[in-house]
Amino acid sequence: MATGLGSDAGITDLGQVIGFLRAAAPGPADRIAAALLSRQGPGHQDHGRNGDVMADQPHHLAGADTRPRTADRALRQRASVVIPGGMYGHQSAVPLPPEYPQFMRGGRGARVWDADGNSYIDLMCSYGPVVLGHQHPAVEEAAAAQAALGDCQNGPGPVMVDLAELLVETVQHADWAIFAKNGTDATTICCTIARAQTGRKRVLVARGAYHGAAPWCTPRPGGTTPQDRANLGYYTFNDLASVQAAAAEAGDDLAAILVSPFKHDAGYDQELVVPAFARGLRELCDGAGAALILDDVRCGFRLHLGSSWEPVGVAPDLSAWSKSIANGHPLAAVLGNDRFRGGAQGIFVTGSFWFSAVPMAAAIATIGALRAERAVETMERAGRALRDGILSQAQSWGLEVNYTGPVQMPYLTFAGDTDHALASAFAAQAMRRGVYIHPRHNWFVSAAMTDADVAAVLAATDEAFAAVRKQSTAS
Ligand code: PMP
Repeated sequence: MATGLGSDAGITDLGQVIGFLRAAAPGPADRIAAALLSRQGPGHQDHGRNGDVMADQPHHLAGADTRPRTADRALRQRASVVIPGGMYGHQSAVPLPPEYPQFMRGGRGARVWDADGNSYIDLMCSYGPVVLGHQHPAVEEAAAAQAALGDCQNGPGPVMVDLAELLVETVQHADWAIFAKNGTDATTICCTIARAQTGRKRVLVARGAYHGAAPWCTPRPGGTTPQDRANLGYYTFNDLASVQAAAAEAGDDLAAILVSPFKHDAGYDQELVVPAFARGLRELCDGAGAALILDDVRCGFRLHLGSSWEPVGVAPDLSAWSKSIANGHPLAAVLGNDRFRGGAQGIFVTGSFWFSAVPMAAAIATIGALRAERAVETMERAGRALRDGILSQAQSWGLEVNYTGPVQMPYLTFAGDTDHALASAFAAQAMRRGVYIHPRHNWFVSAAMTDADVAAVLAATDEAFAAVRKQSTAS
């Protein structure tokens, strides 16, 4: 089922891969990538631009994957008939090594099970939404209690006001809240509010940053028009001069600067924000009368129980939230200050399911549990143990790696591994050993990770490093 070198090429064994590589391009380990890419054919996409790293990747691995895959294979077969491409979007397992199941059965705490019942310690957390662990009892109880009353009705439940009040109390810069369903809704609404309030068009975004899948921000241009992006300007994250240049170009048409709490473009080493850069954006927006918009969709409530830039000391005017605010229940929020209340009031935004009460009840319970369980500290503690263990393992295997980003949202790359061939091999080996990580996207440590989970992850990563070491020396 998977594409790329591996099952499609009929190569499942390291010996075959090495032989293939030697024939294709004898040389050091970091040339494996080029050799594999060159054999991928015309369907291969350049993933190095626009953060589009979810395209097909090379797979090559030692040994065989012995975990059951029958149910997943059957589901993929059926899906290939009734779902375009078999699957779409960031959760498509098609570009991933064959060790990745497409279909998941369930999860509890820090553990998830695939359709075949294989178990994994979860370091992807549904790509962010699960922050307290799967099926958190207090969250599920609150959701069930609300569901027993009603979810989708002719008006929102009282929980909408309770949640808006709780968010305004929890997030310093917020004076009001609007709710939606997805991160893309939230970032798009932020831009709309900024334009409505300022009467201007231009929004500056960091090159390569991901803000969602709508035509104005999707990393893949298929089906979009140049006009969809006509009112964007671009800057480089942490480079204030580049923002100033883009702002100067926008002139008196600058509506907003949109920024992520740190640079977390998929497939690249992550970069924490330089506080002077964040302060510089604030000053620039103040000087120009534009909105500073923080895209807290991925980081929100993982780095801090408040806006992710509160520890940096910079308050945005508007912020976009989703992912973890309801621990896996579908909800997004736009939070804003009083300066932008008028703009927020003047636009028309809505959705059939945007008022449903169950996710709002879940969000209230999530925020309560995040606070009661000191979840951010718990994630940091587990994240630090993971980082320290992984870095010492890499060193002991003589592998040069970069482990970047906040410890609760880390990302691992191998030196010279520009097409993620080694990262894919590492991740696939970890998957075989029941640790769910991703080769081209940052990982997520949930607050459900116990010391025993961290130890189990490290036992698997040590063996995964051993396999990568073997592979790189064999070449
Ligand atoms: N912004 C950021 C920073 C994100 O990580 C994401 C989702 N990965 C989005 C926006 C879009 O969120 P959604 O997929 O829920 O629309």
